[in-house]
Amino acid sequence: MLGKDYAGQDCGLARALEVVGERWTLLILRDAFYGVQRFNDFATHLDLPRAVLTERLRTLVDAGLLERHPDPEHRGRALYRLTADGRSLWPALHALMRWGADRTGDGRPMRTHRHVACGTELEPGGTCPTCAVRVPLEDIETEKVSAPVPPVDPVTAALRAPRRMLTPLDA
Ligand SMILES: [Zn+2]
Repeated sequence: MLGKDYAGQDCGLARALEVVGERWTLLILRDAFYGVQRFNDFATHLDLPRAVLTERLRTLVDAGLLERHPDPEHRGRALYRLTADGRSLWPALHALMRWGADRTGDGRPMRTHRHVACGTELEPGGTCPTCAVRVPLEDIETEKVSAPVPPVDPVTAALRAPRRMLTPLDA
């Protein structure tokens, strides 16, 4: 079994990978940025084994990137929300997303991230080229633009439509 740490690597990338380098982890964080908060919604959208999701969420909470809050609508269940530390990952996540889309797609983004104030598509890393600012998450509208693959579950459908970043899924 492979270990999680890179003790011999004196590099910030190794430190980052110790927290977010496991399979599914960055996709869970991506969904959290899009407003997914409930275990069942992560499970539905990502279609990953529930035991793996449990383990990844625990790791992210322990690392201080997500925070558990009581779910007011489901007694005994939790909402998982990004902490300030978790939110600080956004520029890196956005840049990685764009890199992935650029090298595998036809040059068109699979999902857009626009500055609400001006409608401009963000540059890799989350800056608005029109306004020359790094756009706060609350001022970003995101929308899936690649062709849908039916059938689509309700969580996936909600995440396809234009929505503000961080807006809770069922709000
Ligand atoms: Zn702008």
